[in-house]
Amino acid sequence: MAKISIQNVSKVFGPHPKQALELAAKGVSRADILRKTRTTVALFDISLDITDSELLVIMGLSGSGKSTLLRCLNGLIMPTTGRILVDGEDITTMNDQKLRHVRHRCFGMVFQNFALFPHRTVLQNTAFGLEVMGIPKADRLKKSEEVLERVGLAQWKNSSPGQLSGGMKQRVGLARALALEPEVLLMDEAFSALDPLIRQEMQDELLALQEDIQKTIVFITHDLNEAFKLGDRIVLLQDGTVVQTGTPENILQAPANDYVARFVASADASQVLTAASVMKRSEDVAVLGLDGPRAA
Ligand code: ADP
Repeated sequence: MAKISIQNVSKVFGPHPKQALELAAKGVSRADILRKTRTTVALFDISLDITDSELLVIMGLSGSGKSTLLRCLNGLIMPTTGRILVDGEDITTMNDQKLRHVRHRCFGMVFQNFALFPHRTVLQNTAFGLEVMGIPKADRLKKSEEVLERVGLAQWKNSSPGQLSGGMKQRVGLARALALEPEVLLMDEAFSALDPLIRQEMQDELLALQEDIQKTIVFITHDLNEAFKLGDRIVLLQDGTVVQTGTPENILQAPANDYVARFVASADASQVLTAASVMKRSEDVAVLGLDGPRAA
């Protein structure tokens, strides 16, 4: 069973949802629907299964619907139509209390802007979510120290966020999410604010971490190179619809249409297939007949 199953999900914002969805079903473009109905079809008829322990990247240009999809699957907003099953249970029909419970159990969020409290120490920031959950102080500090060790920040635990670099702040954001032991980590443009070199370091660390903890990770990015480097699978969104889902190699070798082909052409395949990602997927690569790690 899929960890998360997104079934025929559409989400519209505006006064005429029914009419907008009818037009979308007839193939009318999102821009024309907006002009005719003043309603935005942010997502249209998305179906997608997310399996246990995969690192799934949702990629697309700005406005393609990535954040809306993430907010729907996290239960923060409800789809206009369609179902979202988490461990087989439909979160779109749950009462608020049950939904809150599932969200706390399942999802940890890592944001682009770190969202750290400046007057709390690194350790206190890491423990924040556990504090909100009412976990006793000794337990939450012990757990937070463990995750800070895991992300390489143990010696910074008494520092304030202002003393940290951007990459280190993002590690605290990651530690804070991991402290809650979520089943699924949701990362929304988490590395987009970082300098290029730090960003690459964080990508490498995320791959190593995932190898270690084997969590399901849903990672949103508009950066193709980042998507190819990180994703076990990539979902490419365009104007609220899925244009292609596949492994990086599938998408590189067989783009589904001209739009994807143009998108892929904007990335340098020799760059995107880094040593780490090629080695990680060495079996797939062998099957596809690509060169092995030498291709990096
Ligand atoms: P992305 O994350 O890929 O940049 P979004 O999911 O934020 O895209 O947005 C998809 C579309 O939905 C955009 O056209 C955006 O303007 C619209 N949208 C998102 N949230 C809202 C909202 N709360 N109200 C109206 N329109 C929205």
